[in-house]
Amino acid sequence: MSSRGAEKRVALVKGDGVGPEVIDGALSVLEAAGADLELVPVELGYGRWKRTGAAMADEDLELIKTCHCVLFGAITTPPDPEYRSVLLALRKGLDLYANIRPFSAPGLDFVIVRENTEGMYSGVEKLDEEEATTLRVITSRGSLRIAERACAIASKRGRLTIVHKSNVLKSDTLFLRICRETARRWDLPFDDMLVDAAGYNLVMNPKRFDVIVTTNLFGDILSDVAAGVVGGLGLCPSANLGDRYALFEPIHGSAPDIAGRGIANPIGAIRSAAMMLEWFGEAEKARMIEEAVGWAVASGIATPDLGGCSSTEEVTEAVAKRISV
Ligand code: ATP
Ligand code: MG
Repeated sequence: MSSRGAEKRVALVKGDGVGPEVIDGALSVLEAAGADLELVPVELGYGRWKRTGAAMADEDLELIKTCHCVLFGAITTPPDPEYRSVLLALRKGLDLYANIRPFSAPGLDFVIVRENTEGMYSGVEKLDEEEATTLRVITSRGSLRIAERACAIASKRGRLTIVHKSNVLKSDTLFLRICRETARRWDLPFDDMLVDAAGYNLVMNPKRFDVIVTTNLFGDILSDVAAGVVGGLGLCPSANLGDRYALFEPIHGSAPDIAGRGIANPIGAIRSAAMMLEWFGEAEKARMIEEAVGWAVASGIATPDLGGCSSTEEVTEAVAKRISV
């Protein structure tokens, strides 16, 4: 990969825990696929916080904004009540309002589109001895832009399912109305489902879903359920998209329990890199990577989380070789 002058400038945030291990895997596979990227390393996270007292500085965000997108590993949350999440700061700072999480397994293929900037994660909170409150904020602007994203995806994949809890939460009546209006405007097949029923159906009947659109907290929870349904956190990629920037990351966290042992599953990170190539308009390279990953999983070349005995490096090498031949 070239270090200067490429048209695709990527901020590389490996992060903490297994982050660097799985991102190195993704980089090897990108190289094998012939991706021409300019990589800009940015150190953020717990390691950085321990060294300097800040997990991220304003200059970091400025540097990241000189790039087209971010390839992100994972960050450990430091044990400090004053600490503010780096990922949240990036999502806000780059206005990455759409979290796109595709899930696939034999016979299964659906996408969860999660609103990423408001809802229960508004950050409007109060905590004192007697009472603690978190304000759930749903805006028409926020709902409309996520609904538009979801409809664009559903127009290629099938039915849109709007997931909400509007029978209890007034704020969700707004979300539901705007999603319905948007789906009608796109002339798409759509339905809606209460979030509790959606959790049940994801486990019992996941084939019924094509594209789910939902609010921040519900999307967070349902996508971990979905990861379990398709075989594990280590397999699943994600994209965080705004109108200008994007950030690609595996959906798992920094997995401190297995960090440094060379056994982290790199597939979520590798697939996230493929999503990045697709976003850059390199659909053929992205498809090659997906094919190679599917082949490796089907051949049983797998890390221990999938019941295999391969290392991170062995899985990475198998995927990279498959692409090169
Ligand atoms: P964080 O606070 O950074 O989100 P976490 O404690 O929520 O960390 P995750 O990193 O999401 O944990 O991991 C949850 C479980 O899944 C852990 O047992 C971890 O070892 C396992 N896990 C997560 N990612 C992977 C991976 N890439 N390969 C193998 N196992 C993984
Ligand atoms: Mg986690």
